[in-house]
Amino acid sequence: MSAPAHADLVVHGGTVVNAGGSGPATVVVSGGRIVAVQDPSLPLPPHERAIDATGSLVLPGGVDPHCHIGQRLGEYAALDDYESASIAALWGGTTTVIDFAIPDPGQRPIDAVTERRKLAEISRCDTALHGCVIDWDDTTPAQIAEMANTGVRTIKLFTTYKDVVMAGPDTVLEVLRTLHAQGGIAYVHAEANHVIEDAQALAVAAGEAAAGHMPRTRPELAEASAVSQVLATAEHVDAPVYFVHQTTAEAVDLVRAARRRGVRAYTETCPHYLYLDERTYSSEHPERFVCCPPLRAPETVAALRSRALVGDIDTLGSDHCCYSASQKTEHSHDVRVMPNGLPGVETRLAVTFTQLVVRGGMPVERFVGMFATNPARLNGLTGKGVVAAGHDADLVVVDPAARRSARTGDLHMATDYTPYEGEELAGWPSVVVSGGRVVLDADGFHDPGPVGRALEADAMPDHLIT
Ligand SMILES: [Zn+2]
Repeated sequence: MSAPAHADLVVHGGTVVNAGGSGPATVVVSGGRIVAVQDPSLPLPPHERAIDATGSLVLPGGVDPHCHIGQRLGEYAALDDYESASIAALWGGTTTVIDFAIPDPGQRPIDAVTERRKLAEISRCDTALHGCVIDWDDTTPAQIAEMANTGVRTIKLFTTYKDVVMAGPDTVLEVLRTLHAQGGIAYVHAEANHVIEDAQALAVAAGEAAAGHMPRTRPELAEASAVSQVLATAEHVDAPVYFVHQTTAEAVDLVRAARRRGVRAYTETCPHYLYLDERTYSSEHPERFVCCPPLRAPETVAALRSRALVGDIDTLGSDHCCYSASQKTEHSHDVRVMPNGLPGVETRLAVTFTQLVVRGGMPVERFVGMFATNPARLNGLTGKGVVAAGHDADLVVVDPAARRSARTGDLHMATDYTPYEGEELAGWPSVVVSGGRVVLDADGFHDPGPVGRALEADAMPDHLIT
């Protein structure tokens, strides 16, 4: 594709970083798309606007594969909606958010998808959805086919939260098999429910069910055990599987070993499992760090990070869930009833860029793979996650030398705390371009209005990543 006679935007002077390589280049944008990535020595085409990215990295806009936007679960409702969540995402360099359509009790999965799509109409950035199946019945195959036809080809399965969202092993097997036939992938939250229920019961009996005791209520082995079982199922039915929020090197290694046997299995981890550890549960506000699985021991975090650094982790999902400090506090005497989850859609880039690239020395190309390219691929979002002609003009400019402390008051998520308060982080975007619009620059945020598109996932090829 050659550059048009007249461009809407040129981003010049920076180093363009893709998962497959990086180098100095000028990005030429027209009509919301990248129309050329050209040699920096070439003259700039005529343009409406130029952004000087000298000294900075130009990354593809982030694709966050794991967000819970305005999630209702039990008596708790997360405080954000698509407007506030998408604005926070854009501030943080994420231009596509993927949310979960988790059915309410008795609701059909397909109806949960339709309802979520409606909620997403106010989004400022592009959106996509994961469906969710809890119970298998005669109507489920047709619903999965219908979801796929409307561009939802990823389905979440929980192996825990019995009587709420847990899918039994038979349902997991049927969904994996049926979804694969639709070119889709199951997204699995893998923790062994019976182990967790027992660990929780023991903690309650010992009077240790408050937020500060979170780690003992969800032991590491519960994760490894469920990952093993789901991997066996995936291998048996010859279907791909994606594990959300893996927290231990043991779980990651199980996925890698399966992959070496030819199983198409993928690992996601989250910023908080790479940056924070269980010592936060001894802090003044342990409840603010309650998430599932819990933050792990420092040795576990170090081992997980080592797996990320060598490329054994495919994606970074925020697992964003926006509760306030008071919601977290209200029932913090009992981890079984308090709301789980941490706000993080806005801090995903800064936290992981700092921890992996700046401190860990990860090649920035590998980082881009985890932050944008792989989440786009593993969700069938063609056109996302790559800075190349023909792709959507979603760009993030980052000065790798810049540092700024995380402060709740500087963030835009609909909550009143951040788990990273006071942490000095790199990787904050200086410019964000979403669908060709400059939404963040030195003058601040420019709200584009409800322009986010509901993306439809394409059928995914049998071999996504080798
Ligand atoms: Zn989640």
